[in-house]
Amino acid sequence: MNSRERKRTKLALFGGTFDPVHNGHLALALAAYRQLEADEILFMPTKLRYYKTTKITTSAYDRYAMLTLATQPYDFMRVSDLELCSDPEENYTVNTLRRLKEEMPDTELYFLIGGDSLEHLGTWRDPEGLFSLATFAAAIREDVDRTKAEELIRNYQSEYPGASLKLLSMEAMDVSSTVIRERAAKGDSLDGLVPENVEAYIRKQHLYQNA
Ligand code: ATP
Repeated sequence: MNSRERKRTKLALFGGTFDPVHNGHLALALAAYRQLEADEILFMPTKLRYYKTTKITTSAYDRYAMLTLATQPYDFMRVSDLELCSDPEENYTVNTLRRLKEEMPDTELYFLIGGDSLEHLGTWRDPEGLFSLATFAAAIREDVDRTKAEELIRNYQSEYPGASLKLLSMEAMDVSSTVIRERAAKGDSLDGLVPENVEAYIRKQHLYQNA
């Protein structure tokens, strides 16, 4: 096989606050790995919470540490501190994708989002730039969300010709970081919601006591 025929590496970037990472995030990453036939899933915790009203109070160190624990069983998952270590102005997804593209010009980039984030994509900084750099893959619940998601995709593609968006189907997982923080604050079990080693870390470090 010569170099032109060689399959391009598929890297799926998964950005989020991951405060903390939970089993819904892992299920999305697994769905992407299988359905996109991705070579690697790269979790990229963000420094700031751009589109939400609540502030992150958990340290970058703790959020990164929990991601490292959660992804330990999967050799195709990695955690990047690129956004945690760069200055906030460079932190926009479009800038991150640009940096990765420069570093890995031959890699096919995907960006993973939950279905709920699909409708906000047009408000992210420089959507045109975003769509020129990566294929966006949104995870939807097969039973309810498909029609609405397909309509959103059609709208993006007519506004940004050439934009590439895909849907990933996954079983609905009714879990969010908000729920985890609230349960941890009350001392409720996190069993089945986060990996065991993440729950142990939350307890040991006394995280989310005032959530
Ligand atoms: P919070 O409750 O603090 O708002 P979150 O659980 O939504 O957090 P984020 O780190 O903000 O977690 O999300 C990162 C990405 O993961 C987003 O694209 C979001 O849509 C997606 N996501 C979050 N929870 C789930 C879930 N249960 N199933 C699938 N995708 C999810």
